[in-house]
Amino acid sequence: MNLPRILIVSLGGTITMTSSAMGGIAPMLTADNLIESVPQLGQVAILEAITHFSMPGASLSIQNLADVARLLNEKLTSGMDGAVVVQGTDTIEDTAFVLDMLAGHGKPVVVTGAMRGPQAAGADGPASLLAAVAVAADRRVSELGVVVVLNDEIHAARWVQKSHTSLTSAFESPGTGRLGIVAEGQVEIFMRPKRDLLPITAALNHPSRVVQVTLGLGEEGWLLPALSGLGYTGAVIEGMGAGHVPAAAVDAISKLVDQMPVILCSRVRAGRVFTQTYGFAGSEMDLIKRGAIPCGHLSSAKARLLLTLLQSTGATEDEIRTAFGRTTPKQNS
Ligand code: ASP
Repeated sequence: MNLPRILIVSLGGTITMTSSAMGGIAPMLTADNLIESVPQLGQVAILEAITHFSMPGASLSIQNLADVARLLNEKLTSGMDGAVVVQGTDTIEDTAFVLDMLAGHGKPVVVTGAMRGPQAAGADGPASLLAAVAVAADRRVSELGVVVVLNDEIHAARWVQKSHTSLTSAFESPGTGRLGIVAEGQVEIFMRPKRDLLPITAALNHPSRVVQVTLGLGEEGWLLPALSGLGYTGAVIEGMGAGHVPAAAVDAISKLVDQMPVILCSRVRAGRVFTQTYGFAGSEMDLIKRGAIPCGHLSSAKARLLLTLLQSTGATEDEIRTAFGRTTPKQNS
């Protein structure tokens, strides 16, 4: 049988973490170590292992990911059939999204990790790695964009969120549900994700620093006037409900819109930011009229990454509006 060739790129994360001299667990294992711990992988694919970073998920940067995307593109266009990126679960919802935006190779790319370290009872890393390789070896997956596989579930990069700090079932796609599962080693795909964002192919060589500010009950946005002086180039306002902020914060948002792109998101984990329903001060209609850009169905974290990527390519305000506009249905007239 001709086995597919799958690249395993390890960036670190709990899946690689064992006891450290400093106490607690820290990234120690290499991609080769991970492969050795799952002998069944040999029946699924021929593997090439690269330990690219050995970092906790929270310390990865956009530049690190651009570097990983380059590596994936290079390997996937020169013979590898699919790739698995192994990393910390803290940022899988972010990194999978960024890799999805930067990918252009048309081959399966899967991001996986573990909620429990390799020395913990019931460590989930080996099972997730095995499932991830099975998914990366399945050609149909190339049509799904980058996917996340943990707990035998397949999620689209565009929708997946980490929703628990400890459970092995931590990953969910609250707006849509998972795309499929892996059972008895078989990849079962139930749904295909909507692909409404265009990939980013331009170089990421412009400065971009996007801040996310949550405006909850009683918040008046006192921080907002300081943002531009601090060097921020864009802001994501995480409001409440369908994209609402306290009336007391509206003036500050109006002024901020004159200084940088302001994306309007919601702290609610699923559902789109509205555009044409509420008319009170601080409502989505009020903020959009003042120049805020609604984030559609994107989570605040993914909206922040999209704005960062767009600004990094030197996108104009119009281009930013067009890109975010793709996430929102056309208004009824
Ligand atoms: N808790 C994290 C993990 O699951 C740590 C990290 O993101 O590196 O890997």
